[in-house]
Amino acid sequence: MAAEHGGERVAIVGAGLAGCLLAVLLGRRGVPVTVYERRPDPRAAGAERGRSINLAISARGLAALEQVGLKDQALERALPMHGRMVHPLGGAQNFQRYSADGERAINSIGRAELNSSLLDTAEATPGVLLRFSQRVTGVDATAGGLLLEDADGRVSTEPADVVLAGDGAFSAVRRSLRFDGDADFLEHGYKELTIPPRGGEFALDPDALHIWPRGTAMMIALPNLDRSFTCTLFWPKGDFAALDTPERVTAFFAAHYPDVADLMPALAADFARNPVGSLVTVRCWPWVRDGEGALIALLGDAAHAIVPFFGQGANCAFEDCLEIDRCLDETGGRWGPALALYQERRKANTDAIAEMALDNFVEMRDRVSSPVYRMTRAVQHALERRLAGRYVSRYELVSFSTVPYARIPARIRRQNLVLAGAASGGALLLALILRMLGRAAGRPRSGRRGRPRR
Ligand SMILES: Cc1cc2nc3c(=O)[nH]c(=O)nc-3n(C[C@H](O)[C@H](O)[C@H](O)COP(=O)(O)OP(=O)(O)OC[C@H]3O[C@@H](n4cnc5c(N)ncnc54)[C@H](O)[C@@H]3O)c2cc1C
Repeated sequence: MAAEHGGERVAIVGAGLAGCLLAVLLGRRGVPVTVYERRPDPRAAGAERGRSINLAISARGLAALEQVGLKDQALERALPMHGRMVHPLGGAQNFQRYSADGERAINSIGRAELNSSLLDTAEATPGVLLRFSQRVTGVDATAGGLLLEDADGRVSTEPADVVLAGDGAFSAVRRSLRFDGDADFLEHGYKELTIPPRGGEFALDPDALHIWPRGTAMMIALPNLDRSFTCTLFWPKGDFAALDTPERVTAFFAAHYPDVADLMPALAADFARNPVGSLVTVRCWPWVRDGEGALIALLGDAAHAIVPFFGQGANCAFEDCLEIDRCLDETGGRWGPALALYQERRKANTDAIAEMALDNFVEMRDRVSSPVYRMTRAVQHALERRLAGRYVSRYELVSFSTVPYARIPARIRRQNLVLAGAASGGALLLALILRMLGRAAGRPRSGRRGRPRR
């Protein structure tokens, strides 16, 4: 039964990353909550197939994990990646560090392990009840309850006054209530492949996120603690089917990914077995609906799934949870005003990161290997060192700060404008620019400092 507090029975749908974090935050503020998860307990049943195996977690995600005492634990089990290792076709690989000083890193963290830590913490939080193998099929708008189906197909209704839907990109709650919006599918899908350890060691540099940019396609690889790499091949969906025999798979990789094909002994079998995942941007508004027997709010991917090219989906979902908690603080714990404030504050931010994530796809699959891009990044890093805190690159603001996403595009435009002016003007203009940049900027709050690159 959905948990009660001050009269309200509060339910969270989905014990994924956002659902678990929010349950912990609510439990800690004394709000009892019941979490309904369609899967069996993944700590006993094992991770779900077909989900990305590892995630890049950066400053925003770490800030959220810190709030529930999980940051250090997560970092102990993380592999820091201080930059991109770009593998051009027919050229030498080159390392592009993420930050001007080379010290900041994004962190490769196992999704299943992170989810398990959050589940453990949620389970240990007084007032939090986890119910597994309970698929929510919809919301009973008249009676105000959740419609559930268990693993044996038994259906039931659980009363709930507040429903917080963290049930992912294909949210049953969003669809059942026909929240306004759409799910924009990218023409590209993805397939995960593996580079196992070689002689017990990493087969590639583990201090980097590896990218094979190939124009309309791309592959990336992130390191895992067992010294393997998980590769993700992004490709127009229709093209995967053409590789329908082991010979075709092997020949394709030998031609397009020659430096890595030999590092993947199970390539053809993995390619045949692993599913092609979809990449979706969810644009939906409003996220909160009242007056249908319950107060219902969407969060995380259910409200705003984004494509994974900035490694921000989970980071951004975690920020939603912190914002809900903050809004409850600011509204004296009243759910209606708190959730209204939450959606107003978050929407512009999630729209901004959705666009930046789409844009970053083009950067990763295309631009990163061009000499002009590399020169631009070198200039950006030089400016960041010279104008510390006044000139800050987009990557730095997104990944190594908690500056609201919505402020980033305007700030980058302003920086670019004044720099373009500098390029065509003289010393006087440069002095003016420095003053403008000085005024425009607030130093980003820094994320974790990684160890120096080996
Ligand atoms: C290929 C890929 C790579 C990615 N890489 C990164 C990355 O590097 N960094 C990053 O920050 N983000 C990344 N993301 C995005 C990230 O995975 C999501 O943004 C994040 O998982 C969202 O968390 P969530 O809790 O909102 O949803 P989810 O993690 O999807 O959790 C939803 C939960 O709800 C449950 N559920 C679903 N339907 C129901 C139902 N009807 N009833 C009950 N329970 C239900 C699910 O079983 C699940 O447990 C990546 C995504 C993809 C696809």
